[in-house]
Amino acid sequence: MDSNQVSSQNCFQVPNQETHFISSPDSSEFFLFIWALNHSSIVGLDSEWKPSQTQNSHNFPKLSILQIACKLTSFSEFPLEDDNSRETDKSNCLVFILDLFSLPPSSIWKPLRDLFISPNVLKLGFKFKQDLIYLSSSLTSQGSEYWFDKVEPYMDIANIYHLLRKNHGGKVRAKESKSLATICEDLLGVHLSKELQCSDWACRPLGEDQISYAAADAQCLLEIFNMFQSKLRYEGLICLESHPSTSIRGLKEILIKKDLGQNVLMHPFCQAVDMIKSIYLQPVVQSVMATNSFSLHCNTPVSSDSLSEIVKRYGETISLKVCDRFPKPSGRKARRRRGVKKCEEEWMENFCDWQGPAPWDSSAGNDGCPKFLCDVMVEGLAKQLRSVGIDAAVPFSKRPEPRQLIDQAIKEKRVLLTRDTKLLRRQYLSRNQMYRVKNLAKDDQLLEVIEAFDLKISEDQLLSRCIKCNGRFIPRPLTGSEAVAAAKGMQAIPECLLLQQDYEFWQCADCNQIYWEGVQYHNAMQKFITICKLNE
Ligand SMILES: [Zn+2]
Repeated sequence: MDSNQVSSQNCFQVPNQETHFISSPDSSEFFLFIWALNHSSIVGLDSEWKPSQTQNSHNFPKLSILQIACKLTSFSEFPLEDDNSRETDKSNCLVFILDLFSLPPSSIWKPLRDLFISPNVLKLGFKFKQDLIYLSSSLTSQGSEYWFDKVEPYMDIANIYHLLRKNHGGKVRAKESKSLATICEDLLGVHLSKELQCSDWACRPLGEDQISYAAADAQCLLEIFNMFQSKLRYEGLICLESHPSTSIRGLKEILIKKDLGQNVLMHPFCQAVDMIKSIYLQPVVQSVMATNSFSLHCNTPVSSDSLSEIVKRYGETISLKVCDRFPKPSGRKARRRRGVKKCEEEWMENFCDWQGPAPWDSSAGNDGCPKFLCDVMVEGLAKQLRSVGIDAAVPFSKRPEPRQLIDQAIKEKRVLLTRDTKLLRRQYLSRNQMYRVKNLAKDDQLLEVIEAFDLKISEDQLLSRCIKCNGRFIPRPLTGSEAVAAAKGMQAIPECLLLQQDYEFWQCADCNQIYWEGVQYHNAMQKFITICKLNE
């Protein structure tokens, strides 16, 4: 076996005989699973669910499977004696895949709860809180309440990744969030298929590739933790085991040699294996790699002392509160909170339809000219409205207080246009003076407002207002020399325009900006004629 073969095995796979798919509590796999939970020091947890296009806040997705990768403390009392299971002697990792569609919640809830709160088992996950909520919800929806309220001690792979990378020259910022696939690629040099991650997890039976992906997803958590443990061990932050097993002596010798150990830790796992192999061609290391290059790391024994040290220093807790159980709250407070939220949602939905009369309505003695105030979130819309001749103001300050916005709208009889739902919820303004803009693109927003307020736009209104400040133009057009004088060097007027006789310039009465009918003007005219459907 040459070194090329090792590095070409880039897809992370758990050998089949180590993965156990469990669909019945009466199966031998289930028996092995319960045994493994009682003989593990570290477990990697992950779950899969069917990605849904229509996920909303009313339902949590239903989990398809829960994967548990167990790192066993000892194989001495391994319970199953058939040929298949004896194969696992070469590794002390077992991966269980729990079929949540067929296992009764009552059969797995207690073993899982005991595992989640056992102080003797470190739980590893990747942003597992969400999985835990979905798991609880999936089990509960099948009948009685099966909520898990705690996972402790727990370590998140995202945090471990940060700890691993921050001292090794990697540019990882505290709040940077990477996917598990990216982390695996970076640390282990292995590829987790995105395609499989998004495959149909609701189908049965699951494909072989789905099962091996699911198993790898959980086992890679153990691999990354091993890497972290090696780093701490190398840096002398945790003590070395007093009775190392013979099978890993080669690796350990390398890791405690300062210069080489440092080098190995700087590289993705596959390359590191190559490096070790090329220097220390030990029969033991070779035989392990011949079967599964990744079980090399897996075989590192965990001393209970060093593990508890890590837990003491880095251990976290996942706690689920009552409010996490939304949408099925049981407490009075949660129910009230949900009631308020539902009420707000209904109110917001109703708010989509603006109802008059408009504050400029002429039948109430007003001038009949539409006037808007565009919140900072829809500032682009203000320029669009001005372009079609509509009076559209913006707040006086860059970061206006809600009170200032409301005062301005009332004082100037404007309708406030906003996408800020918090502002709308305050209901300080009457219903006819606020409008929630639904579109994101400014051209769509313009058409939305024109239609919602039934604005009549004529062609001579287009580009009749200062886009910069919402001001009106001085009624009489300027000649070229007047325009140059008015610009006062603040604005460059193209020479070629000045040579043309009778070319007209228009000046804003408020900000003195000068406009002329150049190429930009004609393009803009065409654009707004189309948006306002004036040519139909
Ligand atoms: Zn202006």
